[in-house]
Amino acid sequence: DKNHFIHPTSSIKEQQEAGPKCIFEEGNGIYLKDIDGKEYIDAMSSLWNVNIGHGRKELAQAAEEQMSKLAFSSAFSTFSHEPAIRLAKKIAGLTPGDLNAVFLTSGGSESNDSAFKLARHYWMISGKPERRKIISRKKAYHGVSAGATSATGIPEFWKMGGMLVPDFLHVETPYEIGTEEAINSIRKMIEQEGPETIAAFLAEPVQGAGGVIIPPDDYFRGVRKLCDEYGILFIADEVITGFGRTGKMFGLEHWDVVPDMMTFAKGVTSGYFPLGGVAVSDSIHDVLKEHSTGTLFHGFTYSGHPAASAVALKNIEIIENEGLVENAQKMGEELLKGFRQIKEQIDIVGDVRSIGLLGAVELVANPDTNKRFTPERKVAAKVIQALHDRGVICRAVTYDSTDIIAFAPPLIITREQVNDLVQTLHDAILEVRKTITI
Ligand code: PMP
Repeated sequence: DKNHFIHPTSSIKEQQEAGPKCIFEEGNGIYLKDIDGKEYIDAMSSLWNVNIGHGRKELAQAAEEQMSKLAFSSAFSTFSHEPAIRLAKKIAGLTPGDLNAVFLTSGGSESNDSAFKLARHYWMISGKPERRKIISRKKAYHGVSAGATSATGIPEFWKMGGMLVPDFLHVETPYEIGTEEAINSIRKMIEQEGPETIAAFLAEPVQGAGGVIIPPDDYFRGVRKLCDEYGILFIADEVITGFGRTGKMFGLEHWDVVPDMMTFAKGVTSGYFPLGGVAVSDSIHDVLKEHSTGTLFHGFTYSGHPAASAVALKNIEIIENEGLVENAQKMGEELLKGFRQIKEQIDIVGDVRSIGLLGAVELVANPDTNKRFTPERKVAAKVIQALHDRGVICRAVTYDSTDIIAFAPPLIITREQVNDLVQTLHDAILEVRKTITI
């Protein structure tokens, strides 16, 4: 039956050869069960989604109630509906600073493409139509729609069908280089292209798909300053980091930095319904709404879908009522402690890190020099297989020279479950270690 299913990222043969295959049937809390009845810890929250865990009846009930009442209506234009309006207000109240206007979409890629259009539209009606270019970073992941894939900084995504649109530029990210060098790379790009041609700088507070890259503490303050210096808009992609994942409601709050726009998706509904959006600052919104000409024709059919909005509201209520942001912070510390112990015990473990429950373990041939395994000897995929055998789902990041295991368990995880996860990770890495010589 699986042969009827298209995997667009690689050939069927590659898919069959690559890693474990699993068809899930049920989810409960941090656990997933496959069609053979085997249980797994969902240590990736099903790709950074299920912040509140699987199987929450309250969300099913919220969807059911909304669908029985008003299943569908468009959320924007001259008509709208209550759930979308209430959700926009709720999110405006949660986002930092003056990010008080919210445009809703159905996912992360759409949110980023919407932010690019909003930024360009803002410049256009401000009398600066030449400000069109978007600067993002190497190792960034921003989605797969035309703009978002062009903003993505992992070249694998541009191969094959990944047609790039013009006016997207990529700069260095603070990974293996410090803040100064990373900021200088942005400055150099701005100077080279001409500041008057740049619309916005886009960044994930913590790069997720690129390998869980946590920036140095002063990096985003430097970014904010640089954007202000050149009058460039700063867009934060909080699709992974939003709604508690990092131990703050939004990732940038770790560094007290407020962007001009913030995109979100995934955690806003914990993945129970497709929904995303862009929160926009008052100063941008004022320009957008007061301009009487130059309408931006933009909006998706399912922008702010009623049931998705109702589910998002219930999801946010649960995150707040159950103190899941605080739990992510506390359990993140526990997880990192566990990673550090494993690093002490097994010699192929390099850098380990976690910010809240967004963590990574790097695998290296020599931890003292940080020397990586050669491409054909990389080990992350083997560790993922060993974890899978032991009932843990997480993700290998193995593009270019990276050899990383990424973690993002649901924010409801308990101390006992974190310890169980860490012990299983230890056993899996040790098993793989025994099969290799270095
Ligand atoms: N931005 C980031 C940071 C992401 O991680 C993702 C999805 N992994 C996206 C955007 C794209 O979101 P979607 O898949 O919902 O289009």
